[in-house]
Amino acid sequence: MKIAILPGDGIGTEIMAEAVKVLGVLDLKFETESALVGGVAYDAHGHPLPEGTLNLAKAADAVLFGAVGDWKYDKLERQFRPEQAILGLRKHLGLFANFRPAICYEQLTHASSLKPELVAGLDILIIRELTGDIYFGQPRGRRTAVDGHFPGAEEAFDTMRYSRPEIERIAHVAFQAARKRASGKGGQGGKVTSVDKANVLETFQFWKDVVTEVHKDYPDVTLEHMYVDNAAMQLVKAPKQLDVVVTGNMFGDILSDEAAMLTGSIGMLPSASLDKHNKGLYEPSHGSAPDIAGKGVANPLATILSSAMMLRYSLNQPEAADRIESAVKAVLSAGLRTGDIWSEGTQRVGTREMGDAVVAALSGKAITTTTKITKS
Ligand code: NAD
Repeated sequence: MKIAILPGDGIGTEIMAEAVKVLGVLDLKFETESALVGGVAYDAHGHPLPEGTLNLAKAADAVLFGAVGDWKYDKLERQFRPEQAILGLRKHLGLFANFRPAICYEQLTHASSLKPELVAGLDILIIRELTGDIYFGQPRGRRTAVDGHFPGAEEAFDTMRYSRPEIERIAHVAFQAARKRASGKGGQGGKVTSVDKANVLETFQFWKDVVTEVHKDYPDVTLEHMYVDNAAMQLVKAPKQLDVVVTGNMFGDILSDEAAMLTGSIGMLPSASLDKHNKGLYEPSHGSAPDIAGKGVANPLATILSSAMMLRYSLNQPEAADRIESAVKAVLSAGLRTGDIWSEGTQRVGTREMGDAVVAALSGKAITTTTKITKS
């Protein structure tokens, strides 16, 4: 097994160091190789996704990605901005299914903006299609744009489109994921909520029809359809009614961020983007956090949990993934918190101490830290 390690910018290097440390104590045989990506790659090679980095990602069995971006690159032409590296990797690796779990850890229920009883035990999975939709339909106006704006223009539009194969493959992924999750919990089938806007958009009536057809292959999985406006409301009203949510690129972009915030901190949330062979790119849901970069305070748990997803989905090591997730829960139960999830009575720790604590939990050692309990 070969893992490409792409730490990226900002807190990327700090959080990645902890994930690599955690992977290193698992007694698994794999090779890792690192490369530059994002702003640091642009600085060194003049491109956010240099050929060497792309080749490494292509040759690897999985890619573990930190984060990219910094305000200082905002003035660059779009194609050279750090965020283009993610789009380039998705395109060249054929990644079409984005998995964003939103899990509310019992120990962090108070960190959510919702009442604890609404989020306690929350465990949902949002699956976002990545290759179609309005983001890739024909835009109007881009050729006439000046610095990305349209001075004097009377209109601009983007077209929404989905092809049958695109909808079929993401629907299969969603039904299979629901089955897997249900069997992991000792249940059968599970539930898929397909989110659309079929009442207004032709593209999403087509989406709904194709998902319904694919569902015939999965009679054990419950399928429900929900309009996106209702889904946005249900996510904050009664999120625990959802299990697997599958939707298009734009609705998924928005709903997955909404779901993320139900759990309290973006510093806790992993994600995966998979191709049709389950090769994937794994990254925390957050960005490069330039405001706290270099301070040693970033929460590494989203990246560590992303490595667990990598072991489960791409490297076929579900037991190792379970071990990492249990170790993270043990560390939270021991009261350790980075600043983003800290609350009165818990112990504030830095990035490295949090990684060390996960390693200690995995190695069966006591979870300790030298940091004093922070009172305010
Ligand atoms: P961000 O996610 O980087 O930060 C938002 C807020 O959350 C900040 O206050 C930050 O300090 C905090 N935060 C984020 N991750 C944290 C962690 N692990 N621990 C503790 N606190 C954390 O979003 P932003 O500030 O809007 O964007 C910063 C840069 O990141 C931009 O250049 C943006 O384009 C880029 N970005 C990259 C990705 C990616 O690499 N996939 C995703 C989103 C944003």
